[in-house]
Amino acid sequence: MTIAALHTIFLKSSGICTDTRTLKSNQLFFALKGDNFDGNQYAEHAINQEALYAVIDDQNIPSNNKFIHVDNVLETLQKLATYHREYLEIKIIALTGSNGKTTTKELINTVLKTTYATSATKGNLNNHIGVPLTLLSMNKETEIGIVEMGANHVKEIELLCSIAKPDFGYITNIGKAHLEGFGSLEGILQGKTELYRYLQKTDNLVFLNTEDNKLADAAANNKTFTFSQNDSTDTTVSFIKATPMVSLCFRALTIHSNLIGTYNFTNIAAAIAIADYFNIPAETIKTAIESYTPKNNRSEIVRFKNHKIILDAYNANPTSTSAAINNFATLPYTSKSVFLGDMFELGEYSLIEHEKIVEQLLSTDIDQIILIGQNFYKTTTNHPKITKFPSFDTFKEQWNISLLSNGNLIKGSRGMKLERIVSLLNDPE
Ligand code: ATP
Ligand code: MG
Repeated sequence: MTIAALHTIFLKSSGICTDTRTLKSNQLFFALKGDNFDGNQYAEHAINQEALYAVIDDQNIPSNNKFIHVDNVLETLQKLATYHREYLEIKIIALTGSNGKTTTKELINTVLKTTYATSATKGNLNNHIGVPLTLLSMNKETEIGIVEMGANHVKEIELLCSIAKPDFGYITNIGKAHLEGFGSLEGILQGKTELYRYLQKTDNLVFLNTEDNKLADAAANNKTFTFSQNDSTDTTVSFIKATPMVSLCFRALTIHSNLIGTYNFTNIAAAIAIADYFNIPAETIKTAIESYTPKNNRSEIVRFKNHKIILDAYNANPTSTSAAINNFATLPYTSKSVFLGDMFELGEYSLIEHEKIVEQLLSTDIDQIILIGQNFYKTTTNHPKITKFPSFDTFKEQWNISLLSNGNLIKGSRGMKLERIVSLLNDPE
C-alpha cells in the first residue's frame, strides 16, 4: 500500500493508537516493537476492540482484510507523519536543546494560541515515535505546530527534522544532559545543531539568543531572528529579578511570570521573541506569559505553613542542577536546605559531575545539604552540612522531617522520584 493510500485511510480514522490499552474505536493501530513487547502480537486484539485497521510488519501473520502489512511499522509511521505534515501546509516550529524544551514549548504555545490555531507536542512526546504522533495529531485547522525534539545521541535530531520538516527552529541551550549517549559536550553541540544545519539547507529561520556564544557561532550561516538581554534590538527582553519568580521587561512592559529560576528567563524571552516575530502585540504577550503556571514538578512552588519548597524533581543533569542551585542560593530565605537526588545517564563522567555539584553547594550559604542515591553516596567530600543517604528508602527511614528549613530546593533525575519528599510532609498551608 502506498503512503498516500494509507493517508486516505488515516483521514477516515479517529487517529493513531500504538497501545491497545488506550485504543478507541475507529483508530488506526500501529504495531510498534519495543524492548519488551512486539505490537504485532496485539494486532488481533486491536481489531477485536474496533480498530479501523492494524498496521503490522510480522510477515508470519496471515493476511486479513483488517491488517495492513508493511515492511517496517515504525518507518511507515514516520513516513505517514511527513506526508500528513506536507498535506496540512502548516508552519512548524521545532525546539530542541539540553534543558527547558518542554517549558519553552508550553510558553510559546501559550502565547501563540492567543492569536493562531496552534497544536503542540503533548507532554514530552519528543522522540522518533513521539514526533510522528505529534504531527499526526494536527489537523487542517492547525496554523502553527510546535514540536519538541529530544535526543540522546547524534543523528537523532537530523532524523526528526527529516520527519517534521520544520520552518523555524529554536535551541534552548547546550548543556550536560545525556552525556553518556553523546560522548562529550562537543557531541551534544553537534547533535543539537543538526537542527540549524537542516534549517540552513532549507533556507529557513533560526530563533537565536545572541547571548549564547556557542549557539550564535553555530548559527553563523543561518538566517536568524535574534533576541537578547542587552542590545537595543526590538526584541530586547531584560531580566529584572527573581524573588523567587522571574520578572522581566519587554517594550516598557513589566511581566511577572509564575516561573522560578533565573534560567527560566531565557525560556520566557524566547517565547516573547517568537510571539513578536508572529506579530502578537506586547500587551497580549504579557497577559499570556503571566497566565502560565508550570506543571509536573518542573520548578513548582509548594507552600507549607512554615516552609516553602521549590519542587524541581521532574529531572536533573549537571547543567540544570547547577543552574537551580545558583538560583536558589540568591533567594531570601532565612534558612535553606537542598535535597538532591542522583543525576543519571552520565556514564564515565558520573562521579566527577556529582563531586562538582557537591563543591558548588559548599561554596554557597546553603545550610543543609541532603544527598540521596548511590551516585551522590560515592562522592568523597564530607562536611558537617552534608548528609548522604544511599537510597530514598534510607532517607525516608532516617531523616528527621522537623529539620526542614524555611526554604527548600528538591531536585533529582526522574528515576529518583523526589516529589515523594513532599508527600512525607503533612502541614500544607
Ligand atoms: P526533557 O529532556 O526531559 O524533555 P526538557 O528539555 O523538556 O527536558 P523541561 O522539562 O522544560 O526540559 O525542564 C526540565 C528542568 O530543566 C526544569 O525543571 C529546570 O530545572 C531545568 N531548566 C529549564 N530550563 C532551563 C535552562 N534554560 N537552563 C538550565 N536548566 C533549565
Ligand atoms: Mg521535555
